[in-house]
Amino acid sequence: MEDQDYWRRIREDGVQSLAASLTARQTEELVNRWCTHNYHPLPVTIARAEGAWCFDPDGRAYIDCIGAYSAVAHGHLSPFLVETARRQLDVCALTSRAVYSPELALFLEGLCRFTECDMACPMNTGAEAVETAIKLARKWAYTRKGVPDDQAQIIVSNGNFHGRTTTIVGFSSEPAYKRHFGPFTPGFVSVSFGEIEAIEAAITPNTAAILLEPIQAEAGILIPPAGYMAAVRKLCTERNVLLIWDEIQTGFGRTGKDFAWRHEDARPDLICLGKALGGGLLPVSAVAGKRNVMEVFQPGDHGSTFGGNPLACAVGLAALAEMRVLGLPERSYILGERLKNGLVALEHPSVLEVRGRGLLVGLEVVEGTETTVLTQAFLDTGILTKETRNRTFRFAPPLTIDKALVDEIVQRVRLALDAADVHRTRV
Ligand SMILES: *Cc1c(COP(=O)(O)O)cnc(C)c1O
Repeated sequence: MEDQDYWRRIREDGVQSLAASLTARQTEELVNRWCTHNYHPLPVTIARAEGAWCFDPDGRAYIDCIGAYSAVAHGHLSPFLVETARRQLDVCALTSRAVYSPELALFLEGLCRFTECDMACPMNTGAEAVETAIKLARKWAYTRKGVPDDQAQIIVSNGNFHGRTTTIVGFSSEPAYKRHFGPFTPGFVSVSFGEIEAIEAAITPNTAAILLEPIQAEAGILIPPAGYMAAVRKLCTERNVLLIWDEIQTGFGRTGKDFAWRHEDARPDLICLGKALGGGLLPVSAVAGKRNVMEVFQPGDHGSTFGGNPLACAVGLAALAEMRVLGLPERSYILGERLKNGLVALEHPSVLEVRGRGLLVGLEVVEGTETTVLTQAFLDTGILTKETRNRTFRFAPPLTIDKALVDEIVQRVRLALDAADVHRTRV
């Protein structure tokens, strides 16, 4: 097709009708041809989504248990959020932080209210929120704690997942995330997750912060021992070290409370937020925290062209309000218990363990299970789920699902496990 015709067709047909004309096969071919191969997607094309359901171009329905890794907490195309975005598109979508916007003002107030924090810094992606927290912690260490220049250390944990920038993958313990991407940023010390003694031993006078996920989700939904989060908080206070919870995945009701740290007395100095903050529509992230840390930033220290844009702020604020009004954290707790109990009650020989909090549930299958076969079996029964690590499948559906759909997920999981099990005994 002539270049001019190509562009004209997009203008005349519109992007949506062009998209609707693609088959699943054509879609896969185009993506694999034009996109660098940094993902290995499931063999599924999603052409439409609503609530907890996704549909392929042929109309096949799937229950979305991936939920864009917890980013779709409100369900796909949540009506109030879509309405908010639409109305904002009649007002103003993008300014830079070179000016003020009323949406930014309202969003920051709402976010600080929701998180019970003093101030926040709006960004776009989760990794940017983590980068922002690292910069805040380091500057706090140099300007408030008196750590000598360039000597600040941040303690992280083995098995962590905080995003994909070069600084962040540098302190990952997953070889595949970091191999061939060095040299890495110094200043990070990694200790074993869930062991308070390991953190204690790693603290030095130069320790600026401890950065942890309250539950390691990517690592396979790993929950630390009871009392760990509170013990970390206590230790941080005693040793004048900042506590940073990365709640990008666990936050906003996912684990059955507003934030996972609330399961214990473990209030952070800084909290990294993202994913569900965008209401399943847009990338919206932020760091929120205590004034004495947040105020170390001065003009010029940090920024982002798109961070805090009016459209993102409008959607972010609406996402917070919807979460409160619908009581999504409470819902997540009740339905999460139902999902876990349902999966345990299957007493399926292929299941080694079911663990999780709220609607962040991991199903670990026994060694020897063909996980690629099981993944396909899940798809065949109409469930979208993907293995995280170590034979653990993540179930993180929208928090808006109802009891009946939880029971439906459990029944479909049983069918899939049976199908994959039959396969295993045959080979
Ligand atoms: C997803 C995630 C991130 C990174 O967020 P992106 O938006 O993908 O950059 C960071 N931390 C945790 C715990 C996450 O789950």
